[in-house]
Amino acid sequence: MKTLRVNTGSRQAAYENLKPEYRDLGNRGLVARVGLDEIPPACDPIGPENKLVIAQSLLAGTILATSGRMSIGGKSPLTGGIKEANIGGMIGKALTAHGIKLLIVEGAPANDDLFILLVKNDGSPELIERNDLVGMGNFTLVHQLREAYGQDSEMLVIGPAGEKLFRNACILATDYSTKEPCRAAGRGGLGAVMGARRLKAIVVQKAAKPYRAQPARPEEYRAASSALHKAIAENGAVQARTKYGTFGGVRKNAETGILPVKNFRSIPFDGIDKIDAQAIVDQLDRNGGKYGLSCQTGCLIKCSNYYVDKGGRHTASSLNYEALGLCGPNLLIDSLDTVAEIKQICDDAGIDAIEMGAALGLLMEAGILAWGDEKAAIDMAKQIVSGGEFSNEFQMGIEAFGTFLKVERIPAVRGQSFAAYDVRVNKGMGFGYLAGTMGADHTVGGGDPDAEGSYVKSTIFKMNMMAAFDSVFCLFMMQPILMDKTIAASFFKVLSAYFGQPWDMQRLLKVGSDSVTQEFQFNQAAGVGKAVMPKMFVDEKSGISCSAFDIDYEDQTARIQAAYLGGSLS
Ligand code: SF4
Repeated sequence: MKTLRVNTGSRQAAYENLKPEYRDLGNRGLVARVGLDEIPPACDPIGPENKLVIAQSLLAGTILATSGRMSIGGKSPLTGGIKEANIGGMIGKALTAHGIKLLIVEGAPANDDLFILLVKNDGSPELIERNDLVGMGNFTLVHQLREAYGQDSEMLVIGPAGEKLFRNACILATDYSTKEPCRAAGRGGLGAVMGARRLKAIVVQKAAKPYRAQPARPEEYRAASSALHKAIAENGAVQARTKYGTFGGVRKNAETGILPVKNFRSIPFDGIDKIDAQAIVDQLDRNGGKYGLSCQTGCLIKCSNYYVDKGGRHTASSLNYEALGLCGPNLLIDSLDTVAEIKQICDDAGIDAIEMGAALGLLMEAGILAWGDEKAAIDMAKQIVSGGEFSNEFQMGIEAFGTFLKVERIPAVRGQSFAAYDVRVNKGMGFGYLAGTMGADHTVGGGDPDAEGSYVKSTIFKMNMMAAFDSVFCLFMMQPILMDKTIAASFFKVLSAYFGQPWDMQRLLKVGSDSVTQEFQFNQAAGVGKAVMPKMFVDEKSGISCSAFDIDYEDQTARIQAAYLGGSLS
């Protein structure tokens, strides 16, 4: 496979050989390595020196289910450290079909010209000036680009938010089932990193001669993959996820106080019957929506959906737990239709729905919007994305936004909003926010306390685990592999047959620990300081679990960082 390097400053796009040391890296691990090799850690995240790094999986180009998920990274405008966001949709497979393992977008035009990158059927890349696309929302954009470059093209796009360098802007990818730009590299503001390159879209035409990866032991690889796929498809937890998507835990999270309610007050939510997993499935059935959809070909879990509201109007795709939690109960809103509408506004503008939900919560906290006012929430989301009042302050991220609003309860670590989990109940996740490399990102991983109450060992294990699985495929494959020894054995047979060498959990964890180590190295060089748990979680007890976030974290997080940077990981 190869590297495609694109420079919007010099207006060049050309292939390079993939460095040998990158060959056995994938997704998050490759982003971490390239970030350290190529991005000056002290650079301005939205300045010309930052780069957008797009990396394919360790097993890209194989038949392994969900290995078409890819990672996007760079220096985060929100956290100031390295950021990796894993993204579904078809774009990873489309790039891989052209043999592109790594795509680096760098530079910035001297003027404000806007570009798209077109990868043509024959693989040749072209940067095309498209100033006519300035300010265009993602749905119209994808429609127009498909008209121009082919209905079977796959895309990565930014909306107006990315163009305007909103620090909470995301990047959207086109989805297999719905064809819509509804799959997000959501966290960390990577849309602004792409926007700073003045790159509006990456359009990939169907490869004339698709690349296929060659396993070291092809027959064994095929047999092991088939066995793994069969076991995954028959797994009960997977089947539940196919039906209920990412919503399976909504009710339990509400009962335990994990669900964010009224700007993370961890209190009972009266509207739970209207938004739990069964309510969502019932509503989709009733209104002609769909669930059990896959974001990319070959996925066996199929957690996605096509949302249709009570009026029979299709309003959103790939509605997910995070958007529901932050744009629903967090605002005391119990209407799925409203949540879907806010999610769609975010997808069109290219904004992380988690950040939007958190920001609307701050506006309610400040008394500017009334709690539970659905119309006001939708109108405000529209106003913010279209440059109206509060847009300038919102785009700096919720920490700055909350400070501007003079709100004290701001659920953010390192400038990034909490995902939809209250950390007074899910304390391990809160500890992971503080100990990890990416702020309040729920995919970083946090552990449980040991007999002495220490989170150090378990969190290192969890962070390595998350980074390792993120380097291979969709994180939803992790659960059945960790819970079922037979599935795990099949998975390691797949890796062993592909690489022609024995793979086991230790080797996989090494992939993760290398990645996290490089992320810590980047952050240290970038001067990323200590993370602090917001006082609201420390001072206020959960109204359900009656506990506060009471982990004595400073020493423990310092020990974790020292373990990675000092090379003393076991
Ligand atoms: S499990 Fe869901 S998010 Fe993961 S690849 Fe499949 S459809 Fe996409």
